[in-house]
Amino acid sequence: MQTSHYLNLDMIPEYCRRFHLANWQEAGGRKMILPYAMLEHAVRDEKYFSSLMKDMERCNLRFYDAHVPWGEEWALNTCDPEKRKKMFDNFQCALSICASVGIKTVTAHVGDNFFRAGSEIKPPSIKERRNLLYNSLEKIIPEAEKYQVILCIENVFSPADSFDELLLCFQRFSSPCFGFCYDTGHANIRMPDPVKTPDMAADYIRELWRFDEWYYEDRDKFDELLEYTVTCHLHDNDGLGDWHMLPGKGKIDWDKVIKKLGHAKRLVSIQNECAYIYYGYSLRRVMNTFFRIEEKLDRERNTQ
Ligand SMILES: [Zn+2]
Repeated sequence: MQTSHYLNLDMIPEYCRRFHLANWQEAGGRKMILPYAMLEHAVRDEKYFSSLMKDMERCNLRFYDAHVPWGEEWALNTCDPEKRKKMFDNFQCALSICASVGIKTVTAHVGDNFFRAGSEIKPPSIKERRNLLYNSLEKIIPEAEKYQVILCIENVFSPADSFDELLLCFQRFSSPCFGFCYDTGHANIRMPDPVKTPDMAADYIRELWRFDEWYYEDRDKFDELLEYTVTCHLHDNDGLGDWHMLPGKGKIDWDKVIKKLGHAKRLVSIQNECAYIYYGYSLRRVMNTFFRIEEKLDRERNTQ
């Protein structure tokens, strides 16, 4: 299985776009992620997307996975009626754009980000947020089915996307066009560890919990979500913050993660969400890490 790689080209001057894509091609990249900023840009500006696709094709690269933004006009549990209307329009447009270029998975967050400290919005109860999520999925999953794109929700680290909440959701909605995106870094942040205490979690994580008490999961519940797992975001950390490090640089047990992913029968892709530009890693180093992961995963899948 080939990795889809993260590259936010909107952070880079447009005249450098082809240079970066050519380097990815030469490094052996084939599949790329359409990141949230670029997908939002594509929703606003058709011309931008067609010129981007021409550059991708020139370099023999394709978008395989996409990520939608997570602001109020995109989050699945957004509560303001006007914002919800906009959110449905945004998803419809994003799914049609993704389908037009053969993207297989589109990952979204349940939400909660807009309840952070400093925000004017007080969140409704977990139960009400769950109902908002379910109401959104009732409308958006049929759209995903129409476009034959798999809508995925990922585990972040907010009250509304604990493993228990996600499990309830996947048990309720059964569709080949709906599934789980397992984010390794986010899962590691919520994993219990004898040396971790809730006050050690990074500020932006605890901000999401200002109306609930931040807690760690009591155990790793990934096994229960394996049957719904369609894709994954691979990146590492120390368990305290969302650092998006290269796999192997943090505390995640990668052999264990890959072994489990080998059992995910619906898995269609693996995604590199390492912040390699921020850390200053060469593409060769990034590719070597992901080639090793691909090899191990293929071995696991072949022995199942
Ligand atoms: Zn992620």
